[in-house]
Amino acid sequence: MQSIQMVDLKTQYAQLKETIDSGIQEVLQSAAFINGPAVKQFQHDLSSYLGGAEVIPCANGTDALQIAMMALDLQPGDEVITADFTYVATAEVIALLKLKPVLVDVDPLTFNINAEQVAAAITPRTKAIVPVHLFGQCAHMEPLLELAAKHKLFVIEDTAQAIGATYTFADGRQAKAGTMGTIGCTSFFPSKNLGCYGDGGALFTNDAALAQKIRMIANHGQSVQYYHDEVGVNSRLDSLQAVVLNAKLPHLDRYNQSRRWAADYYSAAFASTDWLTTPRIAPYSNHVFHQYTLQLAEGMDRQALRDHLAAKGIPCMIYYPVPLHEQKAYQQEGNYPVTEKLCRTVFSLPMHSELNEETLNYIVEGVKSFRAM
Ligand SMILES: *Cc1c(COP(=O)(O)O)cnc(C)c1O
Repeated sequence: MQSIQMVDLKTQYAQLKETIDSGIQEVLQSAAFINGPAVKQFQHDLSSYLGGAEVIPCANGTDALQIAMMALDLQPGDEVITADFTYVATAEVIALLKLKPVLVDVDPLTFNINAEQVAAAITPRTKAIVPVHLFGQCAHMEPLLELAAKHKLFVIEDTAQAIGATYTFADGRQAKAGTMGTIGCTSFFPSKNLGCYGDGGALFTNDAALAQKIRMIANHGQSVQYYHDEVGVNSRLDSLQAVVLNAKLPHLDRYNQSRRWAADYYSAAFASTDWLTTPRIAPYSNHVFHQYTLQLAEGMDRQALRDHLAAKGIPCMIYYPVPLHEQKAYQQEGNYPVTEKLCRTVFSLPMHSELNEETLNYIVEGVKSFRAM
């Protein structure tokens, strides 16, 4: 058996090598490194995949979040509500723009932002909600969208971990993650479900005027060259990265299907243990398993488990060990029992589109043998 990786990008590349290599050669020959045909094609194809939302590529997922908040004209001091249990980028850009991050606790079953907590955190200064579709499953958008409509708030979806996930509304209508709010933001960091070979990101919106403004802000605030109507940034997806994304996008659903298959394998194998809680799949969203994250029973030694797995060559990561509200840069008072518990108990196992039964079985047996010690 090959050495086990959290994410296996080499095997995925081997399968697409010809397409990617020839696409890269074409870019090198044409020298259209910025805004070349590959970028235009990617925008177009991803837009179709998402059901028609406009796609504005940018340099990375963090930039996407920042550009979204700039495009919505959020002003210093405006409050933006987001989850306490997330990757730092979400809160970082809020603070960077001198907005006020208001962190709320998450749902214990899905790890996603809890609409009741959001409702309780809304004040007259609240301008936006940023749900993060954590680990590959959509946050419960319907109650969030209702709250947003009632209080006239923007909704910026952080879908860096959930590209390809589908949300189902109560009336049966379906939408792709990132296309339900005012703006969706994603990342094409190599390890994401749709990853390039460097940095990349994109914004999605169904509002044509807003799309225009986002394009302008991502391009130094200009829509006509050298005429700057807004303060912007420089944030581009380059053509070489677009080549990789064009090669992978047609396989995204299959990749996500493989992740679900691996997750089902893990969950079936762990169902009989009383010291592990397997991920729950909400009725309103499918799961694209950016991460497969278990909870270890309280009181058990997570570091000992990690050491046990490391000795068997099984990688294991903690996403995330510290709640945002306890980070030095983002300290705030509040009640966060769920996030605090998750930060103490979660661990994530290898998850990617190339896992096979032999590897999964080895990982499962490795985890289970921890209890036997
Ligand atoms: C990866 C990630 C980001 C940031 O994306 P970058 O491309 O690394 O800037 C933002 N939010 C979440 C939830 C992420 O997982």
